[in-house]
Amino acid sequence: MASLPTITLNNGVEIPQLGFGVFQVPDEETTTAVAHALAAGYRSIDTAAIYGNEAGVGKALAASGIAREELFVTTKLWNADQGYDATLRAFDTSLGKLGLDHVDLYLIHWPAPAKDLYLESWRAIETLVADGRVRAAGVSNFQPSHLTRLLDHSDLVPAVNQIELHPGLQQRPLREMHAAHGIATEAWSPLAQGAVLKDPLLRELADRYGKSPAQVVLRWHLQLGNIVIPKSVTPARIRENLDVFDFSLTAGEMESLTSLDAGLRTGPHPDTLD
Ligand code: NDP
Repeated sequence: MASLPTITLNNGVEIPQLGFGVFQVPDEETTTAVAHALAAGYRSIDTAAIYGNEAGVGKALAASGIAREELFVTTKLWNADQGYDATLRAFDTSLGKLGLDHVDLYLIHWPAPAKDLYLESWRAIETLVADGRVRAAGVSNFQPSHLTRLLDHSDLVPAVNQIELHPGLQQRPLREMHAAHGIATEAWSPLAQGAVLKDPLLRELADRYGKSPAQVVLRWHLQLGNIVIPKSVTPARIRENLDVFDFSLTAGEMESLTSLDAGLRTGPHPDTLD
């Protein structure tokens, strides 16, 4: 099986550019979904404490027999656990559920600005990095103002900002800010949870390449340099979403897809979610 392309993060850690997300998958179904994903060739799994399925992910990883160093596991700190001590406790709980002694990427899930605790949470994550229990530290749903504040208060530059990003919400200003600071852009809801897949332009490109609209969207992400983590519980789609390395969109086709940018947010707004 050909290995997936990787992105080298700002601390030298490599992350597969295409991984597997498990948001909204019940714990008991997660083990099966992740097992399908690992069998198909995914090596990067994206979960979060709030998804309630870290244990299900851990079971699938353990049963796979795949060496730990070939796997890339991301989990996230939930908003209610922000703060220095609470972060350390929440991290221990996540590790226990995953059955691991370290994670590859640990993210602050939301800035939750009204709590005003993300600088404290980040300080805790700095110690987890120093202890070798987190290989790469990052954030999620950070807006430019939250990133600027973090950068002003810490020497640890986030390796990743995981944000809502798909053809309907292209996030160019944030992507440019990430590039300027060496922060990798990771796209959540990369398929807009299916909301963009009926678009006529995507349909036309899909027909041109003998691919599905979802595959065209994933290809667009990869060519932009995004890390992507599509979710599916359907084995055929799990495989389909990985089968995106035998075609490429032209520069003109990439440009034409900018027309789909429509401020389409499928999830909460980071400034107001607490
Ligand atoms: P996605 O954009 O990945 O879309 C998932 C939906 O699309 C599911 O309904 C799935 O259906 C369907 N789908 C998957 N593949 C295909 C395909 N090839 N053709 C047609 N439909 C398809 O949405 P998510 O919100 O799940 O985002 C992906 C991951 O990002 C999450 O699982 C999570 O890990 C992360 N995330 C992070 C957030 C954050 O705040 N940091 C917020 C939201 C997500 P089915 O499963 O039935 O096959």
